[in-house]
Amino acid sequence: MKAAFINEHGDLEKIQIGEVDVPEVSPNDVLIETKFGALNHLDLFVIRGWPGLTLSMPHVIGADGSGIIKEVGSEVTTLSQGDRITINPGLSCGKCEMCLSGQQVFCKQFSILGENKWGTFAQYIKLPEISVIKIPKDYPFDKAAAAPLTFLTAWRMLTTQAKIKHDEFVFIHGSGGGVSSAAILIAKYLGAKVIATTSTPEKIEKAKELGADHVINYKEMKNYTKYVYAELTNGHGIDIVIDNIGQATFQTSIQLLRPEGRLITCGVTSGPFTKINITNIFRKHLEIKGSTMSNQGEFREVMQLVLEGKLNPIIDKVYPLEKVREAEKYLSEGNQFGKVLIDVF
Ligand SMILES: [Zn+2]
Repeated sequence: MKAAFINEHGDLEKIQIGEVDVPEVSPNDVLIETKFGALNHLDLFVIRGWPGLTLSMPHVIGADGSGIIKEVGSEVTTLSQGDRITINPGLSCGKCEMCLSGQQVFCKQFSILGENKWGTFAQYIKLPEISVIKIPKDYPFDKAAAAPLTFLTAWRMLTTQAKIKHDEFVFIHGSGGGVSSAAILIAKYLGAKVIATTSTPEKIEKAKELGADHVINYKEMKNYTKYVYAELTNGHGIDIVIDNIGQATFQTSIQLLRPEGRLITCGVTSGPFTKINITNIFRKHLEIKGSTMSNQGEFREVMQLVLEGKLNPIIDKVYPLEKVREAEKYLSEGNQFGKVLIDVF
């Protein structure tokens, strides 16, 4: 089968397009004919590699995808050949205490598709039955591939971790990113007031189309903390900040929060190290929480809203499988608004 894979870690030049073997299906697995894959920053990290990541090569990349069931293992009972599906990119053992209590994110074997298991940028992919959900017959494959990773991440951040309430002020950095655009849609759906940042007038319009109440161009307004406090929240400050930028934004995130505000971090696209003023944390009784991926229950909850059309994933650009390298380069430059997709079949 045709696939995008790496044979060694390094820069984007290491991505190869070529033939690899179709995986063999075990009793609890299904084989999926991939329709679309979607890019995530995770791909860039996996291609580069990190200490402790040991992959057997070749390694197929890609965490998000949608497709059609081609073959089912002998023990599979909930899916049949021909079902249209989307994929939960969070993988866990399914048997440990954490998995059985619905806390799959704390499974010792938790991993992400495409990280240490062959991913979605291939014509076929093998997955455990429990990683797959059916989609309605009229739901488009491209949106079904665009949603999972970013929507499940943003959903857990805002609901389980931040315990978002109606009418709260939610601040979202960098609206064009996958998690950020999903967070705008979810926060608005849950009745919050959203203030977002982005970098161009075109992106400001797009963030407003998603429902953001105020959008700040952070390139034009370098220090917007006072403006947010005084003009946009009437001196109240922000209730929840969603931060996946890290180094470049963390200090501002802390300053933006009202007393007892919550900062939820799920990523460090600008780098992991920064200086923060700890005084702000205890003076304002702040809560700082991490979050990454989600449990099966959260995935199913948010995907139901997506598949019912209540949350509508945004697609920026679609590349053919042969152009995965160009697509990853485009993502790494950060000019997209919404998801970048791969048309696999
Ligand atoms: Zn487990």
